[in-house]
Amino acid sequence: MGKVIAIDGPSGAGKSTIARMLAERLEFVYLDTGALYRAAALFFSMKGIRPDDSDAVLAEALKSAGIHFDKGKVILNGKDVSPDIRTPEVGHYSSVFSARKIVRDFLLGVQRKASLGNDLVVEGRDTATVIFPDAWKKFYMDASVAERAKRRFRQLKEMGLDVTEEKAERDVIERDARDQGRAIAPLTKAKDAIILDTTDRSIEQILETILDIIRSDP
Ligand code: C5P
Repeated sequence: MGKVIAIDGPSGAGKSTIARMLAERLEFVYLDTGALYRAAALFFSMKGIRPDDSDAVLAEALKSAGIHFDKGKVILNGKDVSPDIRTPEVGHYSSVFSARKIVRDFLLGVQRKASLGNDLVVEGRDTATVIFPDAWKKFYMDASVAERAKRRFRQLKEMGLDVTEEKAERDVIERDARDQGRAIAPLTKAKDAIILDTTDRSIEQILETILDIIRSDP
């Protein structure tokens, strides 16, 4: 296992943007674990599998699911599905299916494999607590609900979707509740994680803070 920088936090905290830029600056590999959960949800929906299907049904289906992340793209059975996983529907189902142990166990292997022979910047919900508890550096990124809802609203608008600020805020609250409330690997702050509040700070400021922390304790 190479050096791992693990960044967790709720949706809209700014993890993906910062993790991607950090990986570029440090020449580490970038891994977006949310994209893996989204690809799994897309796969299930293509197979007609529903959230209330049994573990046995999910396990059988996962036998034919090849999911990995490569150079900023998520690959499902050889096909780049990066644009397809960004719809609100796939986002919703990724959060629902991610509560299933069978899905988390399947993706655990995919995530740990990504660190073999690589220095890694990984971001998600449980990367510092469950996937890489011995990570070299751990961060927990957060922002106020209002700010995260605003970011989500802008993102959905840019995708050309019909959305209101109220709906974006409801989605953020609902997703937080599900990610923090599930029984397995809920979103929590690792005890040894450094907290970064991104509410009123620019991407560049956060990035510099992280780089300073890394430089001061290499
Ligand atoms: O980060 P993103 O919003 O793309 O993640 C989609 C969903 O995947 C999250 O809402 C969460 O339920 C799930 N997820 C997870 N564990 C991770 C990353 C994402 O449960 N490490």
